[in-house]
Amino acid sequence: SAGVVIVGAGQAGAQLAMSLREMGHAGSVTVIGDEHHPPYHRPPLSKDFLDGGLAESELALRTEEYYRDRGIELVAGTAVTSIDRGRNEVLLSSGRVVAYAHLVLATGARNRQLPIADGGADNVHYLRTMEDARRVRHALERAQNVLIVGAGFIGLEFASAAARRGARVTVVEAAPRVLGRAVAEETSAYFAHRHAVEGSTVLCGCAVDEFRTDSRGRVTEVRIGDRVQPVDLVLVGIGVAPNSELAEEAGLVVNDGIVVDAQLVTSDPAISAIGDCARFPRAGAASIRLESVQNASDQARYAARRICRADEPIADYGEVPWFWSHQAGDKLQIAGLALPTDSAVFLGDPSSGRFSVCRFRDGFLSAVESVNSPGDHLSARKLFARGARVTEEQLRAPEFSLRSAAA
Ligand code: FAD
Repeated sequence: SAGVVIVGAGQAGAQLAMSLREMGHAGSVTVIGDEHHPPYHRPPLSKDFLDGGLAESELALRTEEYYRDRGIELVAGTAVTSIDRGRNEVLLSSGRVVAYAHLVLATGARNRQLPIADGGADNVHYLRTMEDARRVRHALERAQNVLIVGAGFIGLEFASAAARRGARVTVVEAAPRVLGRAVAEETSAYFAHRHAVEGSTVLCGCAVDEFRTDSRGRVTEVRIGDRVQPVDLVLVGIGVAPNSELAEEAGLVVNDGIVVDAQLVTSDPAISAIGDCARFPRAGAASIRLESVQNASDQARYAARRICRADEPIADYGEVPWFWSHQAGDKLQIAGLALPTDSAVFLGDPSSGRFSVCRFRDGFLSAVESVNSPGDHLSARKLFARGARVTEEQLRAPEFSLRSAAA
């Protein structure tokens, strides 16, 4: 009989299947993923996996037995190619047709491609999947001159891994500062310095003007302004685009992400969307798409609850966003969501290497960026979850601590 069908076996899709069973869903649960592995953790791909600290076998979210024992059908290596909304069915690349009572799109996102003249040489890498990570890890073993395009989280995490292996690392970022979309200027400045100390050259406000290739199409040199340098490995980390074509072709509303309502339902009441692919509304703010494990997992749990207790009213989705990144030997954790225009106040001394940058909008705390300060991070998450309103004046008081404010 028709049950819940989930498109995408990533963080969100897997969590949804697990949560449905934990919450007692009795109907069938089918997860269809086009990758060839059971669901795995992506964050280590640009961190511990690169330096060999984590093996491939350690990346799986759960063992295959886990899904089998719970009656979760995992269909790997198979894409959903279309949705027939009239018949409540999806068509798979294998030719199989699967009927659904409820369909959940958890298709994630894919890397934005750099418009390189020859369509990409074999030493130009991207990092999203296990295969990508395998390939680039292998290439990194021999690379001496590494060029990274984009100083976002993945680019900078990769820069650390490469610098630690002794490669000459150059990071090119078009924006005026690193991590510019995500953190305060103060936090950007701290990390720019830390990467410089690690030996990476970070060039902001410029772009690669030319990739020079050899006869085999490999990039051998790049020109950045009037600087020309040799390259044997290029890593591109310039953001992602949501996988929303399937939804769009089925006539669902799409706008830089699959548009959902406050209960994560698309413009078709029988179809939800969660995780990186979903654009969702927030109380008193513009709709947003978030790319994080927290967002994928919390939206999955929420959708599971909504599906399992379909006859009970449910409050709108509104979990506190949080994120982490490991780079240049530091642990960055972010709680809440800041706008680039939000002001910033230090809590603690950045020269100690343990501090937080607190962001304020309209006089109230909007986000906390913690560096090697997990206590601050957890307290901030508690504060935001409680809906507590901290003013800049309160925070600047000498006796203030996030911990006591959250208690
Ligand atoms: P995904 O994990 O992308 O899963 C979607 C799946 O759906 C994919 O397997 C895709 O191939 C599949 N799919 C798409 N279309 C179809 C179709 N038509 N049919 C079948 N299958 C389909 N987040 C953090 O919070 N902290 C971090 O430190 C962090 N580090 C990261 C490092 C790297 C290298 C990467 C790539 C991401 C990182 N992230 C991090 C982001 C985090 O991994 C993502 O936000 C999260 O995986 C999103 O989960 P998702 O299920 O929405 O999408």
